Amino acid sequence: MNRAKRHRSNTRLSILLALALALPSAHSLAAGLRFSLVRTAETETLDAFTVEGGQWTEKAIANHVAVLVEHHAATLLIDTSLGRQVDSQFNSEMPWWDKPLLQYGKVDPVRDQLERAGLRLDRILLTHSHWDHASGLPDFAEVPVWAPYAEIEFSQIATPPAVLPSQFRHKPRWRPVVYEPTPFLGFEESLDLFGDSAVVLVPMPGHTPGGMGVFLTLEDGRRFFFTGDTSWRLEGFTGPKEKFWISRAMVDNDPAQTTAQLRKVHELMAAEPELRVIPAHDERVQRTLGYFPHWIE
Ligand SMILES: [Zn+2]
Repeated sequence: MNRAKRHRSNTRLSILLALALALPSAHSLAAGLRFSLVRTAETETLDAFTVEGGQWTEKAIANHVAVLVEHHAATLLIDTSLGRQVDSQFNSEMPWWDKPLLQYGKVDPVRDQLERAGLRLDRILLTHSHWDHASGLPDFAEVPVWAPYAEIEFSQIATPPAVLPSQFRHKPRWRPVVYEPTPFLGFEESLDLFGDSAVVLVPMPGHTPGGMGVFLTLEDGRRFFFTGDTSWRLEGFTGPKEKFWISRAMVDNDPAQTTAQLRKVHELMAAEPELRVIPAHDERVQRTLGYFPHWIE
């Protein structure tokens, strides 16, 4: 082989090598995702109502948010938060004695916020079917809704104040979530939605029978855990601490199972100190992430 030929074949070899090295990073780029908290409203309450041992003299904000997730394979919404019809849902079906505690402020529904930004959804993932998470379902009647069988069934039989039947009257396009026997971060079963560990669903029964937790992992490895209403406050997991006893009796379908979930997440946080746990209503945690149109990426 003369010098020029050898040089050409070396160049070809290094191009091939560079391509081979570039492939894995191209793959992980494709597997990346970004997410944004879409805040629809807030409820002003007392610290004591939100967590065991909370202060009676201190105010607390309970946020109402949905989580918008952009993955290269699909655009997802975790929960729907308060929707366009929340006032009529709330006024016609919420028992009067529950209304003062659950009252919310001015609402900017997710559908309105997405339309203003020109965004569309492919799927909804429901952490649970309580009214403040399912209120926007009729706004997205055309979008498939993913939830475990146990939760779909619960949404059909549960009664106010937890579940408001009017939110399901349009007959959501349910897609049952069936977990696989694949352990994930202390959970015995899981469902890796896209096969790239970016969006992983885990069962969290307790607050409701088919409650679901969602792990989101960014391309750089930062991992976020959306725990629905297993606890309303991060202190529920770091403690671990229960909800205030009246709230607990009012909203937790299976209190003992809910306690077991609190302990599980408590242990997970000790084992994975970098993991960011985001309870569905914890304003103090959520404000550190910012709100739509701000993206975490
Ligand atoms: Zn809730």
